[in-house]
Amino acid sequence: MAVPCVRAPRAEGEETRKRLADRNLLSGEYEIEVEDGTIYIPLGPSADLEALGEQFDIVHREVTPRETQTLPKDILGFDPSYERLGDIAIIDEDTDERARRIADAIVDSDLPIDTVVNRASPIEGELRIREWDVLAGEGTETIHREYGCAFELDIDRVYFSPRLATERRRVIKQVEADEQFFDMFAGVGPFVIPAAKQGADCVGVDLNEAAIEYLERNIGRNGVEDSVAAIHADVRDIEGYDDRADRIVMNLPHSADEFLHTAVELAGDDCIIHYYDIQPDTDPFGPGERAIRDAAEPEYEVDVQTRHEVRSYAPHDLNVCLDVRLRRTSG
Ligand code: SAM
Repeated sequence: MAVPCVRAPRAEGEETRKRLADRNLLSGEYEIEVEDGTIYIPLGPSADLEALGEQFDIVHREVTPRETQTLPKDILGFDPSYERLGDIAIIDEDTDERARRIADAIVDSDLPIDTVVNRASPIEGELRIREWDVLAGEGTETIHREYGCAFELDIDRVYFSPRLATERRRVIKQVEADEQFFDMFAGVGPFVIPAAKQGADCVGVDLNEAAIEYLERNIGRNGVEDSVAAIHADVRDIEGYDDRADRIVMNLPHSADEFLHTAVELAGDDCIIHYYDIQPDTDPFGPGERAIRDAAEPEYEVDVQTRHEVRSYAPHDLNVCLDVRLRRTSG
């Protein structure tokens, strides 16, 4: 089977391999190959070929499967499900004994994982964080890489979901250079940092002091110091940003409706709001759309541009996003 590979001159092979390894993009399943002074480095499943294509020469090539790689399933005899966040593996197991078996297998495998945690509570409270059982390793801090950005974070102190990477990318692709971008619930920066890299002038607000500490570090780590302001506050209390935003992100799905009046105050004359919601699959978009119209009309003309299903959240509940254009009316 042809596998996506980064092609580079052999002399640049080690440096290229390191750049990919730092971002956890290497395939564990195929061997790196060299032919006629050119190296072919197979990419893993998390690699975004479109984004990587901007930095690397990507080709598809038949390469030899690795025989030496040991995966958790080779140790366990079944394929456990886990999510990766930097060098942390996150599992969601009900029984302690099974969780520990899986954690041991992950650490003993060839995966580049140092810490394994099991979910110990739902995501809770205003700060949207959860408790964890640390089953292997020590810290809960890591550096997660997503579409060319690096996010330092502590899963014990801040919200972060790697599952939303594709959704964030969908939004960021719409961002234009020089636009005023406002994230009302910014977390450690997974929207504002890529938006700033795309040339937007960004503000990120969060109530969680730890999230803002990490956001500030991530601003430095990603070299966007001149384009992002990080503000620790309840977004309803901030002053000095009214009537400016060209784009607003509202990723606080269970209660974003309570913040729509603030969003309307922040909006400029022509503004896109990305409004995240969790609703029953029988009417996932209706409640959000009605709430937005209630808050914005008649001061703004409201045009729902996209009704997008992000993911299934629970049986019969959907996580959705409404992309809504607000245009100030003359009256
Ligand atoms: N946008 C980030 C992301 O995608 O990773 C974080 C989203 S998380 C679901 C919601 C965030 O909103 C949390 O970091 C929480 O601390 C923050 N938050 C909750 N209430 C807030 C408020 N009143 N003002 C500002 N931020 C708030």
